[in-house]
Amino acid sequence: MDLYSGPINKLISELSTLPGIGEKSAGRLAFHLINLPKARVERLANTIIEAKSTVRYCKECFTLTDSDICPVCSNENRDHSTIMVVENVRDLAAYEKTGKYDGVYHVLHGAISPMIGVGPGDIKLKELIERLKGDDVKEVIIATNSSLEGETTAMYISKLIKPSGVKVTRIASGVPVGGDLECIDEVTLLRALEGRIEV
Ligand code: ZN
Repeated sequence: MDLYSGPINKLISELSTLPGIGEKSAGRLAFHLINLPKARVERLANTIIEAKSTVRYCKECFTLTDSDICPVCSNENRDHSTIMVVENVRDLAAYEKTGKYDGVYHVLHGAISPMIGVGPGDIKLKELIERLKGDDVKEVIIATNSSLEGETTAMYISKLIKPSGVKVTRIASGVPVGGDLECIDEVTLLRALEGRIEV
């Protein structure tokens, strides 16, 4: 028996597909939204649509941005010869927040995971190799997570890049195993960056 009307059920099931939102939270959110003034709901809906239609990948580093080239890549004061490879935009944000890294980034949008069928072709790896051809890159810092997937990806990238002669380093493993970069405090992040070793 359906407890709620069709549209509410639909809203709950739609919300419960979002990361970190279980059935219970989805229900709470759905009823909260229904009780909001119509103008608030419209503003929220429009904000989502606007973000979705204006945000795109930076043509150089593939982070999310609302212009062709993101603010980091278009900043001439950044060291464009050092590229830090991260799994996702949140990891980039974590390093940016420290304010101590002055190189540029490359966002993979995932990590290699044979278990769930994510191969090298499913992340932005080709694009990274492409960047190394044209640019005057001196160092690639691999800052993928220290999870199994992150380590697999790191190993794959280093093997791929090494023949090109570009220096490849891996951030130190002070980062807890399985830890998401975004959840780690700035001091640990900086220590991991400073303690990077050539691979
Ligand atoms: Zn960029």
